[in-house]
Amino acid sequence: MGSRPAAVALALFLLVPSASPAQTIIVKAARLIDGRGGPPLEPAMVRIAGDRIEEVAGTIQVPAGATLIDLGNATILPGLIDLHTHLTDRDDVHWESALTTTTPPEAALWAARNARLTLMAGFTTCRDMGPTWPYVDVELRKAIDAGAVPGPRLMVAGNYVSSTGGAGDARQFSVYLDVPIVRNLADGPDEIVKAVRTNFKYGADFIKILVTGAVLSKGIPPGAQQYSDAEIQAAVTEANRWGRPVAAHAHGAEGIKAAIRAGVRTVDHGSYLDDEAVTMLKQSRRTYYVPTLAIGSYIQEAPQVPESEKARGRVVNEIAVGAFKRALAAGLPIGLATDAPVMPHGLNAREIEYRVSLGEAAMHAIVAATSLNAEILGMQDRIGSVTAGKLADLIAVSGNPLTTIGVLRDMRFVMKGGVVFKDDLSPRKVATSSGGRQ
Ligand SMILES: [Zn+2]
Repeated sequence: MGSRPAAVALALFLLVPSASPAQTIIVKAARLIDGRGGPPLEPAMVRIAGDRIEEVAGTIQVPAGATLIDLGNATILPGLIDLHTHLTDRDDVHWESALTTTTPPEAALWAARNARLTLMAGFTTCRDMGPTWPYVDVELRKAIDAGAVPGPRLMVAGNYVSSTGGAGDARQFSVYLDVPIVRNLADGPDEIVKAVRTNFKYGADFIKILVTGAVLSKGIPPGAQQYSDAEIQAAVTEANRWGRPVAAHAHGAEGIKAAIRAGVRTVDHGSYLDDEAVTMLKQSRRTYYVPTLAIGSYIQEAPQVPESEKARGRVVNEIAVGAFKRALAAGLPIGLATDAPVMPHGLNAREIEYRVSLGEAAMHAIVAATSLNAEILGMQDRIGSVTAGKLADLIAVSGNPLTTIGVLRDMRFVMKGGVVFKDDLSPRKVATSSGGRQ
């Protein structure tokens, strides 16, 4: 974390000149992994005009007036995508304590900090899976889009939808203690339809429903299904009417299968994914499994997590790792996600590293975090690969992640939409004639 203030200063400095339209930038490096799974391009050059990638080749002539960013012996990759973050939540506060000890403005300020850390870690797009305080995530997305704070491009949930007494019920402390601002409870298809419409009215991009219990909750076990098939179906039907998807938090096998049958876009966590669920997912052309695996060790180390939930976490994590290996062996596409801040914000690449340690090929995990995640989001026309026509979301690391996946921990260069937010690699920005970035 020591080098971060310098990186921030650099990012702010670079934000200003890059605002000029259609400036041409050439990024050059020893190697490019383009996100589609083919062999790396060595060496590689990428021509960017404005916010778009125009050309990718081994060599490109640097036009007059263009800025050359020479990243030396680095590897360029597409900006990474995390399908499960909670950027408005702090690393060190349990979400239940947050409900009784924090405020929405506090969440917004920390969200800005967490969004910056996540972007600087090379994650240029995140699907944010629900704040403690409803719609703080919508405001975060707007502030990032307006350039007020640096952060990933966001898809946000607004206010997650939970059953009464379920994993997202904020009122489980005592019958006398209410958290009236968090109106996320919906029971029965009619209330769920209303919750879906309310979320979209206030700016959500998709719906997150809690189909089963959670690890970091009291009461109902993580495996137990909390919404009936009809209730899940009501959420999907209504969201799809708006042209938007549903993400289902689901640990238990029955909840996972009910969510697949209802046609959700993603089954998040998916801890108890069994052979039948794997087969259903293989046949489905619309639902993806999105595990969050590396958080297991962070839950055990977190001082704010009570022992009862740590014990739960140990059991669920072991089963979840088995489910991941089962899905991998079956050749299932597996989305990449972290559940930060259960893992601290900015360490998101640890999920890629952890999946490789469980037997996934490095290239396969990189494809999951880039082009596959883009497809799951329905954003494959804009992001997910370093190819002509896509948004210029480029990152770079020293060395080669295919031989040492851990280099992704140390992000050295971050460009989002043609704007350089971090550059610890190029010795200088060479302006070939007039203009340039300085
Ligand atoms: Zn989550």
